[in-house]
Amino acid sequence: MQNDIQEVLYSEEQIQSKVRELGAAVSRDYEGRNPLVICVLKGAFIFMADLSKNIAIPIELDFMAVSSYGNSTRSSGEVRIVKDLDTSVEGRDILIVEDIIDSGLTLSYLIDVLERRNAKSVRVVALFDKPGRRTVDLNADYTGFSIPDAFVVGYGLDYAEHYRNLPYVGILKEEIYSNR
Ligand code: 5GP
Ligand code: MG
Ligand code: MG
Repeated sequence: MQNDIQEVLYSEEQIQSKVRELGAAVSRDYEGRNPLVICVLKGAFIFMADLSKNIAIPIELDFMAVSSYGNSTRSSGEVRIVKDLDTSVEGRDILIVEDIIDSGLTLSYLIDVLERRNAKSVRVVALFDKPGRRTVDLNADYTGFSIPDAFVVGYGLDYAEHYRNLPYVGILKEEIYSNR
């Protein structure tokens, strides 16, 4: 697994310290409220677990799975809900937890869905952001790291369902996906 990584971008320690900062900011901003924190599966599952432990106010958690990528490294532009929420979002303050924002298509679709279901507010926390790749106008309310246009894996992020269990985030060697 390690041999497939061209360069480690952020170590486990660097990620943990950023996640603590993000948790503190969320705790401060949502003080006195009871937000519904939504994990976008699968990529955000580790971030959600670590972030939720660093949120010091009462929250509820739910999970949603959307698909847009298949096994490729570029968004198809088509977003599909694969697993929907168990909880009603009507009148709720929603915080979407996303692993990475690339084109922005997935999130703009999700925000739209939640607003149409009459959420009271919808905000986004994304651990990684590739601002250079946006095709729709969208920004996270909380961002961990801005990264260049490279395909990264680890800390929940996959290539063809592999590498999610790496504790750090790194750039995948191009030969891994160009050979397929
Ligand atoms: P978007 O709709 O913003 O183009 O893409 C969002 C989703 O694509 C992310 O939630 C993530 O699942 C996937 N994605 C985008 N960039 C990367 C990347 O560099 N590495 C991995 N593993 N997934 C990515
Ligand atoms: Mg994602
Ligand atoms: Mg993926």
